[in-house]
Parts: sequence; structure tokens; C-alpha cells
Amino acid sequence: MTSPQTPDVIIVGAGIVGAACAYQLVQDGLRVTVIDDGGKGATQAGMGHLVCMDVNPAELALSSYSLEIWRTFTPHMPENCAWRRCGTLWLADTEDEMELAEEKSTRLATYEIENTPMTAAQIHQMEPIVKNGIAGGLSVPGDGIVYAPNVVHWFLASCDEKIQFIKGHVHALEPRTVVLRDGKKYGAPRILLANGLWSTHLLPELPIVPKKGQLAITDRYPTCITHQLVELGYSASTHTSDDTSIAFNVQARPTGQLLIGSSRQFHNEKHTIDLSLLRSMLQRALHFLPQLGQMNILRCWSGFRAATPDSLPLLGQHPDYEWLWLAVGHEGLGVTTAPGSAKIISALMLNRKTEIDPRPYQPARFTAIARQRLP
Ligand SMILES: Cc1cc2nc3c(=O)[nH]c(=O)nc-3n(C[C@H](O)[C@H](O)[C@H](O)COP(=O)(O)OP(=O)(O)OC[C@H]3O[C@@H](n4cnc5c(N)ncnc54)[C@H](O)[C@@H]3O)c2cc1C
Repeated sequence: MTSPQTPDVIIVGAGIVGAACAYQLVQDGLRVTVIDDGGKGATQAGMGHLVCMDVNPAELALSSYSLEIWRTFTPHMPENCAWRRCGTLWLADTEDEMELAEEKSTRLATYEIENTPMTAAQIHQMEPIVKNGIAGGLSVPGDGIVYAPNVVHWFLASCDEKIQFIKGHVHALEPRTVVLRDGKKYGAPRILLANGLWSTHLLPELPIVPKKGQLAITDRYPTCITHQLVELGYSASTHTSDDTSIAFNVQARPTGQLLIGSSRQFHNEKHTIDLSLLRSMLQRALHFLPQLGQMNILRCWSGFRAATPDSLPLLGQHPDYEWLWLAVGHEGLGVTTAPGSAKIISALMLNRKTEIDPRPYQPARFTAIARQRLP
């Protein structure tokens, strides 16, 4: 990567969202400088499930749009991005939850997302280690998984000479300028904040709070599941706005390990593992996959989702500063929705028509983004 003299855009943050934006802006002919302070974000901590989520129409529009874009990337991604089109099997624990499966099926069908309701027998045929007594479920075969930190490297490496990467911490914003902790300043006509949770350090008025999540990973075993398995109650748990919640979500990594999620917790900003919550998560996982009891857990960790009040990201121009742009607040779905977010940002910056309606994600929908006095 060589250094362009004057970038068209400075991007703060090189998680999956900043990197996808850099990739898209370069594809669309702009020169970009990316500044990141060391990859400490949610992208390093997440599960990497590329999943069509449908709690509301805007979430479904952005996730299904993004999944289409992912499918154009995946033939070109190196093996270390660990792309697998494993599909998602949504599990209905009870007959009542089969209604959730039917509703989900109808919603996905309106966006022409391939999906098939499953009987318990069909689920067991596909995934024999799922517990007996399950009511059924829903198969969504177009979903997949990636290893997001390596996708970040691939996005940035694909930008060639049109990108400059600077390692540094952006300490403050001035009009069309970022100020690093060491006092260095860099300027561009547009500054794009894509630094997730930490965007509030630069713009405290952003309505973003941390939502902690814990994950555990097993030792390597001969492959025992082939789909990402998620309980149907998971979707509702992703949109709780205050309480702590857990939901069964297990992914087979290409290494033969099982990645076990997940929890959602507000008002806890410590990285330390909450052991009683971990116990509940593992008990829930054992409920669906009793065989997990014979496996070793190798490692547990936590990360923080950047949560907004409506669980949708902020994508677009800051209402008060035409030079300042936002691509933040991707909560628990930012790996999935990074490419769609990047396309929206690029189209808006270049005054082109976006391919999906950008209004549900406009930062101006929150009146809390009040005038912040920048020097
Ligand atoms: C436990 C857990 C599980 C998840 N599972 C999934 C999943 O299965 N599927 C899915 O789609 N999503 C998932 N997510 C959500 C997803 O990981 C995030 O939405 C996504 O990674 C957000 O990416 P980002 O680029 O916006 O932010 P981040 O990844 O947080 O990146 C921000 C970057 O900005 C840098 N930075 C911060 N401040 C500054 C500064 N002032 N100056 C310079 N650099 C700065 C940070 O170091 C970091 O590199 C999960 C999240 C968690 C926590």
C-alpha cells in the first residue's frame, strides 16, 4: 500500500465495517486513508455468522442485501477467511415455537430468501446430535460463516495503491480533520467514523451503548454438526433493550471446534467472564446438544456490541456536519451487514441512488444526535 497525497475520505476504524467501507469506496474510485489503533474491536470477538435476520423490515432489508453482496466476494476470498456456506438451522424447542418458524418463513419469503420448514425427523437427519423431542425448525441454506479478522485483511489488501493505512488513535475531530493522540493531524473532505463502540468517545451524543457478549469454544473434534444451529427464541433476545439474555447458538468452525454462544448483557463493561452467565449459556447449549457434555471447552472470551436504541446501524451523513459521516452501531450483526452498509455509504457520498432504502439507518432519525460543538 503506497501513500496517496490527499485522500478523498479518512476512515476512522478498521474493523469489518471500516474495512468494507474502504474496499467499496476504492472500488468506486475514491482514495482512502484508514486509521486504526490496533484492532481491539467487536470484529475480533464475534462469531462471524452471516445470517439473514428479520426482526424488523429494515434489519431484513440490510441483512438480505448484504448477504447477496457477500456471495459476490466469497469466490475471491482466500481460504483463511474460512467462508463456508453452512446454512442456518433454526430450532423450535416447542410446538409454540413452530409458529415462530412459520412466521419467519413467511417474512423471509417476502425477500425471496430460500427457506424450508423442517419436521423433527428432518432436523435429526441433517443434524443427528440435536436432542430428541425437538418440535422442528426452519432451514435457511444461504447463510454462512467467515473468520472476520482475516476478511478485514483481505478487504484492505484488495485496495492496492488507493489506500493508505495509518496505525494511530484518533483523539479528536476538527472540521475535515482528525487529530491523533500524538498531535499529528490528517485532513480530507470527508471523515467517516467506523470505529464502533468508541465512536462515542469522539461524539458523545451518539446513542450507542455496549452490549456485552460471551462465547466459548471447544477443543477440536471430528465434525459433528454441519449447520449453524440457533434456537428460534434467539431473534427476540437480540432486541432486548435492557435485560441480560442468553440464547442457544452453535457454530462448527472449519477447525473442528464448536463455537458456543451467546449472551447479551447491558451495564457490564468489564471483559471478565461472568461465570454464572457462562454456566447458563452452556446449560442451554447442553439442552439442545447433550453430546457437548463430553467435550472440553478450550477458551472463553467476551466482546462488546455497539447497540443503538432500535438495533439498527447509523449510516450516512451527520445531521450537522456535511464533512462528517457515520457507519457505526452495528450491534450483533455487523459482520453480516458490513458490505451492505459500505455500499450505502459509498452511494450516498457519491450522490448515487442506493440499492435499498437508506432512510431506516439515517443518523438523523435520533434527535439525540444534537449539535456538538466542534472547534
Ligand atoms: C460476542 C459477539 C458475537 C457476535 N457475533 C456476530 C455474528 O455471528 N454475526 C455478525 O454479523 N455479527 C456478530 N457480532 C457483531 C459484530 O462483531 C460487530 O457488529 C462488528 O464486528 C462491528 O464492526 P465495526 O467495524 O463496526 O467495529 P469494531 O470491530 O469494533 O472495529 C472498530 C475499530 O476501530 C478501532 N478504533 C476505535 N476507536 C478508535 C480511535 N479513536 N482511533 C482509531 N481507531 C479506533 C478499534 O481498534 C477497532 O479496530 C458479534 C459481536 C459480539 C461481541
